[in-house]
Amino acid sequence: MKKITKTFVALFVVFVLVATMACAVACENDPCKDGHTASLVRGTAATCTEGGTQDYYKCAVCNKLFSDEACQNEIQAPIPTQKLDHNTGDWLSDDTQHYKFCDRCNTKLEVANHSEPDAEGKCSVCGKVLEEQEPAHVTDKTVAELSATPPTEQSTVIYEVVGVWVPTGNDSDQYGNGLLVDQTTGASLVIYGMAPTVSAFSYAGGVYTFTNPKQFQSLKTSFTAGDKIKLGLAYSTQYKNYYSYFISREDVSANIKYTATVDTGITNGTISLSKSTDLVYGEEVTVTPSPSAGYKVDKIEHNGTAIAAGTDGSYKFKVTAGPNVVSAEFVDEAAVADKLVITAENLLGWSSSSGDIGYQTTDITKELVISGNDKVTLSYLEIACYGDGLQMRYDTKNTPNLHTNIFNTTAFKLEIESITLVATSGKTSKGVLSIAFGTEQLTEAPEEYADTFELADETKTIDCNVAGAHYFRIDHTSSTGAMYIQSITINFKVVAA
Ligand SMILES: [Zn+2]
Ligand SMILES: [Zn+2]
Ligand SMILES: [Zn+2]
Repeated sequence: MKKITKTFVALFVVFVLVATMACAVACENDPCKDGHTASLVRGTAATCTEGGTQDYYKCAVCNKLFSDEACQNEIQAPIPTQKLDHNTGDWLSDDTQHYKFCDRCNTKLEVANHSEPDAEGKCSVCGKVLEEQEPAHVTDKTVAELSATPPTEQSTVIYEVVGVWVPTGNDSDQYGNGLLVDQTTGASLVIYGMAPTVSAFSYAGGVYTFTNPKQFQSLKTSFTAGDKIKLGLAYSTQYKNYYSYFISREDVSANIKYTATVDTGITNGTISLSKSTDLVYGEEVTVTPSPSAGYKVDKIEHNGTAIAAGTDGSYKFKVTAGPNVVSAEFVDEAAVADKLVITAENLLGWSSSSGDIGYQTTDITKELVISGNDKVTLSYLEIACYGDGLQMRYDTKNTPNLHTNIFNTTAFKLEIESITLVATSGKTSKGVLSIAFGTEQLTEAPEEYADTFELADETKTIDCNVAGAHYFRIDHTSSTGAMYIQSITINFKVVAA
């Protein structure tokens, strides 16, 4: 044992001696034996496609490289870093292709053509809308519902609605203006133009637009007034009316029956009807008034519109869609009607706060009842109603440019005393109306007018300046503007009997 221990100690001493000598030689020659003189060397940044290197430290004295500032971890070469992934977001697209975009290397990536449109009209990869899908048509609304609660958005859907067609245009109407009427309630929708097919509608940006093709005449063989038809309707919030296209005829007018009723509030007389049940659209009904002793007929009205008495003194109306309510006013036998009031309602035939009647570019004649069978025929041109009274204007849309005019073509029985004009309140765009009186029909614009109604006039009475005048004429005489007139009242001279 002793020998082994001695040998081990001897070997250990030799080892220590050798090691000490080696160190003395090496350390003697190390210029960094008291520490390195290291400075930071920036690595190269990795990119989306190339790797880089880490920062490191290099000793200026011994040229050794270290990964750490304390120079504890010597390295032989800069440590490489991995290339980066592209920094992309959601799919982007143009009309034909989709792609992603790396905002680090500013490169379009994964560029490819869109897929075929899927069931929703979209690219199945990027979701771009390639074919705008129209919303499904609304088929569960009725005329009465839409009339009671009009849409609040502009033409965003098409309503397929069934109703009775009541035209407002004349036989040569190219547009197809009229009313779609609820058979039972008489509620109606204003139709401003009817196209033969849905192709008159185009859908873009969530809204339907309508190009009125003026092809209404081509629908003449598809249905007639009083037929029940189905229309596709797109609503205009601006005009509070509907553009439409014809879908189908649902029933013919002969199959649709109406009843007529007599207003229960009639006093100083009664009326009877020649027929009141099983009526069809357009059928003529005769109203026979029976005034009480000392009274005479002032007005017989059908659905609120006065009926002119025929040459035989009888009153007739034509059955229309909805309720047909007949009313009468009886007045003292000695009473004389001292005025005629012309409004959008009685001149243009129908109107409402949401109504819309296009202007006419040809002369229209209309017979208005003054009282009983006293009536007058008026001729008018270029008067419109968009729910804001009689719009009397200079029309710049048509050729030749036309100005509103209105005059009577049959004489008033009584001499005219004056005319009172009342502007529609709340309308600011105004022109000039010129008023003339005559002893003969004023078919042409006269050289001189009695007076004008203009600018800020809200109401004005223009006295007749012609003795024995039984005719009047009103012309729109300014080169711009439109006068919105609530009423034109012709006041007569009533001479005591
Ligand atoms: Zn060094
Ligand atoms: Zn990139
Ligand atoms: Zn795509």
